[in-house]
Amino acid sequence: MNVLTRFAPSPTGHLHIGNLRPALINWLFAHSAGGDMVLRYDDTDRARSREEYAQAIAEDLAWIGILPRTSVRQQDRLALYDAAVERLREAGLLYPCYETPDELERRRRRNLAAGRPPIYGREALKLTAEDRAALEAEGRRAHWRFLLPNFGETPFEMRRTEARWDDLIRGEQVIDLASLSDPVLVREDGTYVYTITSVVDDGKMGITHVIRGEDHVANTAVQIAIFEALGFSLPAFGHHNLLTTTDGEGLSKRSGALSLRTLREEGYEPMAVASLAVLTGMAGAIEALSDLEKLAKRLDLSAISASSAKFDPAELDRLNADLVHALPHEAVSERLRSAGVPDKVAEPFWLAVRGNCVKVGDAALWWVAVEKGPQSVPAFDEEARKVLHAAKALLPPEPWDERTWKSWTGAVKDASGAKGRSLFMPLRLALTGLDHGPELAALLPLIGRDRTLARL
Ligand code: GLU
Repeated sequence: MNVLTRFAPSPTGHLHIGNLRPALINWLFAHSAGGDMVLRYDDTDRARSREEYAQAIAEDLAWIGILPRTSVRQQDRLALYDAAVERLREAGLLYPCYETPDELERRRRRNLAAGRPPIYGREALKLTAEDRAALEAEGRRAHWRFLLPNFGETPFEMRRTEARWDDLIRGEQVIDLASLSDPVLVREDGTYVYTITSVVDDGKMGITHVIRGEDHVANTAVQIAIFEALGFSLPAFGHHNLLTTTDGEGLSKRSGALSLRTLREEGYEPMAVASLAVLTGMAGAIEALSDLEKLAKRLDLSAISASSAKFDPAELDRLNADLVHALPHEAVSERLRSAGVPDKVAEPFWLAVRGNCVKVGDAALWWVAVEKGPQSVPAFDEEARKVLHAAKALLPPEPWDERTWKSWTGAVKDASGAKGRSLFMPLRLALTGLDHGPELAALLPLIGRDRTLARL
């Protein structure tokens, strides 16, 4: 079987790390199976969908390394939905309803109060042609519901009807269709609801695996009935846990801060974001993997946990730092150049400082320390001044290499009598202005003799 998955965002906002989870799971799953993933924009909601968001979604996915071969927009596929809806109507599986949201809400409350399940009672099925004509004459327009196959002799005798599937992630799933309301498939204004458009696309495009968030489990039961009514073969279904932050705040609220755009602007590595999005809520360590191939090898649908996928946004820093510490110079050369690091020292500079960077951008701070040194004159006590004095007198001639630091400070130690912290801290502060940082043995040749002399 040729695996074909899809990622189906609505272009109503920017992608955040929680949306990246299904995107990557689908992409990696298809990739591992030698298959493909379609990017499908669920944009039938004209009022909320925006072209700029559709473009931003493609850009954000490309940043992660997801480059779908095919992308489609539901807006371009309306004729397919027209035909499917017509088929359901002809089969008597779609019926017009006229209730307003208020009326439905009142009825729902009455049902609850009477101890009945708060589901739609199919009242509109009882309307005669005259009733409907009268309602339309009042100016009401119909929305259309799909008649779920959950009844015996008549639609008013609902009975337990199990929708079953072997979920790729959650295992055997059973949902009683009699516990659900007939879904609205066509809105009052004639536009189609995702419930039907998604089935038509999945069916027509030959999607083999529908993998999405667990908030869609009930949809799946309904959609299986629609797949069957339309004569499409069923894809396999999988529902993954949703990413949430540990403080319990939903991702939609935090979506600004955790949008892929913002994370990119803040200088996070795409693979740190990707690793966190996929490995949270899955058995095994949450580690930063260096490329999507490696992440694909870690993806195991059966290892996705049944409980929630909570993450601490601070984890991103840890994963990012792990990646940055191992990045070779080629991976960052452009970024170093734009931070003003001259090409001829860029590689040794990067190797000296990467272990002290959480983000690649932090290298710019270390470059300031190398090039400019202290931003204000550090205050030194008598003992420190003695160390610096000896250091200046004993500064060896160039050329310098990684061994220069050891021989120089050895000589300073002998001359001043200072050792350990009392020896090294005044030198570090005088040279860089900071009390911590990369190995001075590696920085010293980059700072060079002239600048060193001027700082002592
Ligand atoms: N547009 C839907 C969503 O973003 C797609 C769900 C699905 O994958 O079927 O939730």
